[in-house]
Amino acid sequence: MALYVKKFGGTSVGSTERIQRIAQKLKDAHDAGEKIVVVPSAMSGETNRLVALAREMMPGVVDLRELDVLLSTGEQVTIALLTMALKALGLDARSYTGTQVKVLTDHSHSKARIQHIDTDKIFKDLDEGRIVVVAGFQGVNSDGDITTLGRGGSDTSAVALAAALKADECQIFTDVDGVYTTDPRVESRARRLERITFEEMLEMASLGSKVLQIRAVEFAGKYNVPLRVLSTFEPGEGTLITYDDGESSMEQALVSGIAFSRDEAQIKVNGVMDKPGTAYAILGPISDLNIEVDMIVQNQAEDETTDFTFTVHRDDYEKVMDFLENRKNELGAKSISGNNRVAKISIVGVGMRSHAGIASQMFKALAEANVNLGLISTSEIKVSVVVDENYLELGVRALHEAFELESTPV
Ligand code: ADP
Ligand code: ASP
Ligand code: MG
Repeated sequence: MALYVKKFGGTSVGSTERIQRIAQKLKDAHDAGEKIVVVPSAMSGETNRLVALAREMMPGVVDLRELDVLLSTGEQVTIALLTMALKALGLDARSYTGTQVKVLTDHSHSKARIQHIDTDKIFKDLDEGRIVVVAGFQGVNSDGDITTLGRGGSDTSAVALAAALKADECQIFTDVDGVYTTDPRVESRARRLERITFEEMLEMASLGSKVLQIRAVEFAGKYNVPLRVLSTFEPGEGTLITYDDGESSMEQALVSGIAFSRDEAQIKVNGVMDKPGTAYAILGPISDLNIEVDMIVQNQAEDETTDFTFTVHRDDYEKVMDFLENRKNELGAKSISGNNRVAKISIVGVGMRSHAGIASQMFKALAEANVNLGLISTSEIKVSVVVDENYLELGVRALHEAFELESTPV
C-alpha cells in the first residue's frame, strides 16, 4: 500500500466547513487503499493573530521561547478538529503535536531545524488502519521545550515526515493548483508548470516564491523526497519537483520562472577606505547580530575610497541603519544612506547555464518597460535585480512576456 504525507495549508483549513471537506477527501483516498499521514497548518490568519497578541504583551523584543509556546497552538487546534472530522466520517484517526510524536529540533526558537522524527507511533497507527494527523510547524528540543520552524514551516514538517517514513510522495495541498511560472496573483497569465527541477524550485523559494518554504525544498533535495504541489479542492496533477538536471531535454525553457520579494531594503555605506578589511569591518558585526545580508556590491572608485552597498530583509533595515550610523566614524565612512522601499525580481532557469545573453535580454525587457535597475546579481541559474517597489508588478509582467512564459512548453 502506498504511503502519502499530505500537507494542507492555512487557507485549506481556514474554516470548519473546509476541514470537513478535507476529511471527506482523505476518506476517499483511505478507501482507495492509501496509507495517510496528514499535516495541517493553522487556520489562515491565525499565526499572524497570535504574533500580534504576543507583540501587545512585549512591544520590544518578544521572548522567543514563549512565542513558540503560543504559536504552536494554531496547529494544535487544526489537528484536533481534523481528527474529529475524520472520526465523524467513521474513520479511525489520531492527532499528535510535535512533542507527542516527537519531532526533535535544535534549540533555535522561531526558526528551529528538525534533527530527528520518531516514527514508531506513526507506523503502529498506520498498521492498525488509522489516519495519522501530525501538527505542522512545530517540534520539541532536547530540553522538552516547544519550538517552531519559521513561517511557512509546515511544508518542512511534511517533507521531513515523508523522509523519515520513506513515504511514496509528499503532497503539498494549497490554494493554487501547482507551481506557476510566477505568482498567479501578480500575473494572471502565469502558467502552471507540470514539473520543475529541484534546483530551480530551490532558487524560486529562496528568491521569494512562498509556495514552498525553502527549508522544505532543501530537505526534499537532501533526502530525495518525491514532492508535489497540488490544489486542495480542484482535481489535477499539480507540479512535480524533479531531481534530474534537465540536461536530457533540449527544449528546456531558458527561463522557467520569475520570483520576487517585496521584503527588501538596500543600504549604502559611502566613502569608506578601499583597503583590506573594509568589507569585513562592515559586514562582520552585522552577521554577528544574526542579520542575513543578501546582495553585496562594492564599487572601486578613482580615489582611495569606495562605496559599499548591500541588501537585507526589510524588517532588519532600521536596526542595521542605526547600527551603521553609530559606527560611521569608526568605519571612516562619509555617510550612510538607505532605501527600504525596494523589491527584488529574479529570473530562474537551468536553461541559462548553456545560453549566454539571458541577462541582457532581461535588462532589455525592463528598459522597455521603463523600470530602473538598482543592484544586480547573477549566479549560474538566476539573475536578480533590485527595483523600486512600485515597479515590481510591472517588471514581473514585462519579464513574463519577454521570456514567453505563457506559452513555453516545459
Ligand atoms: P499555504 O497556506 O497553503 O501554505 P502559501 O500562501 O504559503 O499557502 O503559498 C501559496 C501561495 O504562494 C499562492 O497563493 C501564491 O500566491 C503564492 N505563490 C508565489 N509564487 C508562486 C508560484 N511561482 N507558483 C504558485 N504560487 C505562488
Ligand atoms: N502556521 C504557520 C505560518 O503561518 C506555518 C505554516 O502555515 O506553514 O507560518
Ligand atoms: Mg505556506
